Amino acid sequence: MAKIISIVNQKGGVGKTTTCVNLAAALAEQGKRVLLCDFDPQANSTSGMGVDKTVSKGIYEVLVSDVPAADAVVHTRYGDVLPSNKALAGAGIELIGMDRREFLLKDALDQLAAEYDFIFIDCPPSLELLTLNALCAADSILVPVQGEYFALEGLSDLMNTVRIVRRSLNPKLALEGVLLTMFDGRTNLAMQVAEEVKHYFPGKVYATVIPRNVRLSEAPSHGKPITAYDRTSRGAEAYQALAVEFLKKQ
Ligand code: ADP
Ligand code: MG
Repeated sequence: MAKIISIVNQKGGVGKTTTCVNLAAALAEQGKRVLLCDFDPQANSTSGMGVDKTVSKGIYEVLVSDVPAADAVVHTRYGDVLPSNKALAGAGIELIGMDRREFLLKDALDQLAAEYDFIFIDCPPSLELLTLNALCAADSILVPVQGEYFALEGLSDLMNTVRIVRRSLNPKLALEGVLLTMFDGRTNLAMQVAEEVKHYFPGKVYATVIPRNVRLSEAPSHGKPITAYDRTSRGAEAYQALAVEFLKKQ
């Protein structure tokens, strides 16, 4: 059965989507059976894997109109994708009236879990019902943190939400790891933030850090993970190293 990992941080622009696409692709390249479930209405990880984000069958249709999850999965050469589209933007409100509203994503992914080793969920930048669904569907969370001054702000809200979810909805939810992204080790500030994050999450911060690398920001416009766009880049090396470290911790 797949291990389901939500990539979550309610802050936007911290590298959730970049991590989801590139970690999923790096693991697929190592022969793992990987599904990327895009759960952000912006659908950036859908297009980042080279899938059309105007798809008519995506995760939204699986949740609200009984499309079987397997019918929405798109097979790409970088791994399988359960795409998102704009329709998901209204779902936060629409799901409120539904039965098992916190578990709709879990119920959808459980249909697919036997087919994969890992399912990664790319979360939207909020702690509302969509993210709550992602926390209830997951075995663990992977938290990207940008090495900048306000990095820790918001993480306490996230961890509070995780505690509430553990208490009431998903007791098994674990912390997979914390990943420093867009990291510039030459600055004192970045080093200081890294120390603070390690202090806050002892033993949970990946030794692999993701450097700021322009190739990582270019790859999505080509619809390719970094390993396919420029595998000699520092970004590609970092995500490949992360995949190795991630697997060691399983
Ligand atoms: P989130 O999903 O958390 O909103 P993204 O992964 O979309 O964050 O990243 C935000 C922006 O920063 C995107 O334009 C992305 O291409 C860019 N980016 C992410 N990680 C890096 C990195 N390590 N180096 C350079 N640019 C990055
Ligand atoms: Mg994103």
